[in-house]
Amino acid sequence: MLVISGPSGCGKSTICRSLLEDERVVFSVSATTRAPREGEVDGRDYLFLTPEEFRERAEHGEFIEYAEVHGNLYGTLRGPMDDALAAGRVYLVEIDVQGANQLQRLGVPGIYVFIAPPDFETLRKRLVGRGTDAPEVIERRLLKAHDEYEERVKYDHVVVNDVIERALNEVKGLAGLLPAEETR
Ligand code: ADP
Ligand code: 5GP
Repeated sequence: MLVISGPSGCGKSTICRSLLEDERVVFSVSATTRAPREGEVDGRDYLFLTPEEFRERAEHGEFIEYAEVHGNLYGTLRGPMDDALAAGRVYLVEIDVQGANQLQRLGVPGIYVFIAPPDFETLRKRLVGRGTDAPEVIERRLLKAHDEYEERVKYDHVVVNDVIERALNEVKGLAGLLPAEETR
C-alpha cells in the first residue's frame, strides 16, 4: 500500500493521477454516505452508500478505517486492498494528514509518503492557481497546512513537490515502480 498524504494543495491529486497511468497501480476508492456531486461517478469517485449500507458494512468489519466528516461517513474498504495486493499491484491511497495518522495508528502496513510544498508562499500560489477555493478558504487551508507540516516526521518519506516530474520520479522510486537502472 502506498499512502500519499500532505496538506491541501501540495499536489497529492496531481501525483496520484500520474501514478495511475501505470497499470500496476490501483486507486483506493473511498466509500461515503454523502450524495454524489454533479459529474461524480459511483465506483470511480466514491462508492456511494446509504447510511444503512455503510453501517452494516462497518459492523461486518469491511472498513480499514472510517470517520465522520461534516456529518457524513467516509471510509476505506479492506476488500479492494486485499485483492490488489494479492495480485501483486500497488494499492494507492490518497488521504489527508488526519486520515494517514489514523491508518498509521491502526498499524496498517504501507509506505507512508508526505508530499511537502517547497515553501508556503509557493503553496499559496498553487492554491490560488488551482482556482477551486475562495480566498478565505485558501487562508484556512494555509493555516492548517502549517500545523500539518509538523506531522511530516511521522512518515516514512517526505517528498518535496518542487518540479512535478522530479517529485513524481522520487515517489515512483519509493514504490518500486521505476525500472532497475533508474533507481540506481
Ligand atoms: P492536492 O491534491 O494535494 O490538494 P493538487 O494536486 O490539486 O493538490 O495541486 C494543487 C495545484 O498545484 C494544482 O493546480 C496543481 O496543478 C498544481 N501543482 C501541483 N504540483 C505542482 C508542481 N510541482 N509545480 C507547479 N504546480 C503544481
Ligand atoms: P469530500 O466530500 O469533499 O469529497 O471529502 C470530504 C472529506 O472527507 C475530505 O477531507 C477527505 O479527506 C475525507 N475523506 C474522503 N475519503 C475518506 C476516507 O476514506 N476516510 C476518511 N477518514 N476520510 C475521507
